[in-house]
Amino acid sequence: MERAYNFNAGPSALPIEVLQKAESELVNFRNTGMSVMELSHRSKEYEEVHNEAGRLLRELLHIPDNYEVLFLQGGASLQFAMIPMNFLDKGKIGNYVLTGSWSEKAKKEASFFGETAVAASTKEDKYTSIPNPKSLTYNDNDAYVHITSNNTIYGTQWQSFPSVRHAPLIADMSSDILSRPIPIENFDLIYAGAQKNLGPSGVTVVIIRKELLERNVDHVPTMLRYTTHADSNSLYNTPPTFAIYMLTQTLRWVKDVGGTEAIADRNRNKAELLYTVIDESNGFYKGHAEKESRSYMNVTFNLPSEELNQQFLAEAKEAGFVGLGGHRSIGGCRASIYNGVTTEACEALASFMRKFQQDAK
Ligand SMILES: *Cc1c(COP(=O)(O)O)cnc(C)c1O
Repeated sequence: MERAYNFNAGPSALPIEVLQKAESELVNFRNTGMSVMELSHRSKEYEEVHNEAGRLLRELLHIPDNYEVLFLQGGASLQFAMIPMNFLDKGKIGNYVLTGSWSEKAKKEASFFGETAVAASTKEDKYTSIPNPKSLTYNDNDAYVHITSNNTIYGTQWQSFPSVRHAPLIADMSSDILSRPIPIENFDLIYAGAQKNLGPSGVTVVIIRKELLERNVDHVPTMLRYTTHADSNSLYNTPPTFAIYMLTQTLRWVKDVGGTEAIADRNRNKAELLYTVIDESNGFYKGHAEKESRSYMNVTFNLPSEELNQQFLAEAKEAGFVGLGGHRSIGGCRASIYNGVTTEACEALASFMRKFQQDAK
């Protein structure tokens, strides 16, 4: 059985080494005679897996001691609501930078709990760019400022981050966490669903500055408080144990291939392979994102006509490339090239794109 060239936007490709490791210990985890899925979440064996995930994430992302790492459920989408529930006090403003559909959704959830504002938006130009980090509009009473570091649907990515001093800076990093080094100290809360770069769906990583845990959240339901999970090492209730096990294996793999810096080099190289084809195609392939806002994770492009888009997608599918259709909201084509996507898969796609253009003449 050959592996597909998987360019799915999420859930997405996992490294073959991670899958094989999981397969090798699926029915008998470390001589327990049980699968990791069958272990008690209070057992010593599971606890080792759980704590290793936190330890490795700290190591790989250089997370300082004044931050907690939490493993939650509900995806990034539940974070859209948990953030205002925990931080958007009366009289304060949840201030959002709109760079795509996920930012819009995050802001919408905040509006159920309090006042919101738009710090900057590139909606007018169809979300083809990231605003200048120095151009954001702040309010004295901002509860926080929220950004989306990589816009999965539009294929744009912040290349430098705003420096926010008057309020906490919060980032949805669901589609680019661990794809490149990040200045953690710039942020007060970072969250990411695991299913793009970190493992399977089912677990959401939250990196939170400890100071943010010192507020009164008596009005928030227990499960929706960050303090609940911080106080219990993310073991307040049954965590998604198998997803966390897969996260641990994925983090080990990142460490094995040289850590975040090495992964970032690989990712840059992978993205360049595809952007080079786009840039050298004389306009046959047209990138959705402006060059300086391009994402290294989601490469979005269109062909000269809708008919050619469809023909490209059909022939690509035939040739074994999976998941290249653009998001239903913008159409066109999108190659999601997260950590688990190999350089070889990107090379194969680049060749396919070149050949398709030649044949279309
Ligand atoms: C995928 C994605 C989400 C949604 O994540 P869920 O885990 O499905 O809730 C949110 N934000 C961004 C940037 C994403 O890429």
